[in-house]
Amino acid sequence: MTYLGLLIYALVVIGLLACDCCSGKKHPQVTAVDEDLSPAETLHRLRQFHGHLGPYAVLGYRLGGWLLERLGCGKYFGAHITVTGPGVTPFTCLLDGLQMSTGHTLGKRNLELVTGASRAPGVLFEIEAIADSGGAPLRVNIPASVADLFSEWMAAELSDEEIFDRTLSWPQEELWQELT
Ligand SMILES: [Zn+2]
Repeated sequence: MTYLGLLIYALVVIGLLACDCCSGKKHPQVTAVDEDLSPAETLHRLRQFHGHLGPYAVLGYRLGGWLLERLGCGKYFGAHITVTGPGVTPFTCLLDGLQMSTGHTLGKRNLELVTGASRAPGVLFEIEAIADSGGAPLRVNIPASVADLFSEWMAAELSDEEIFDRTLSWPQEELWQELT
């Protein structure tokens, strides 16, 4: 091997060792927005995927990032998420937001919607997320008060940007509660 060949080989090895995916470093694709996307780009992609923009889709997007972070799980695979709640729009728009941020989808069957099941009083959605690697299930409730809040926002005919910003910056504890 020539000196240049050796140098290239060494650089490739160093590159591989430094790479997150090869070093096994956990890098959950967290947050309400994909880390490498600007808020404007995220809004654009969510609207492009969903066809319009409403608070339930944005809430699903935000919650999905939080769920993956809490589970220490990556995007697309690694968990099973069950959403129990009403089976009609606009509520079900939540599912599209969840699919966008978690990459867990109805088609892959690692995201599931259960409708018609009874829920605790005052609860709009019950969500359970379980990591494939095991561990305790993560359970979250979205309170019925969120439906009232979002009805107000939708009646106020806010712009997409306002809906997006409000939903992402609204106090988390008013949007969902983790059950212990
Ligand atoms: Zn929608």
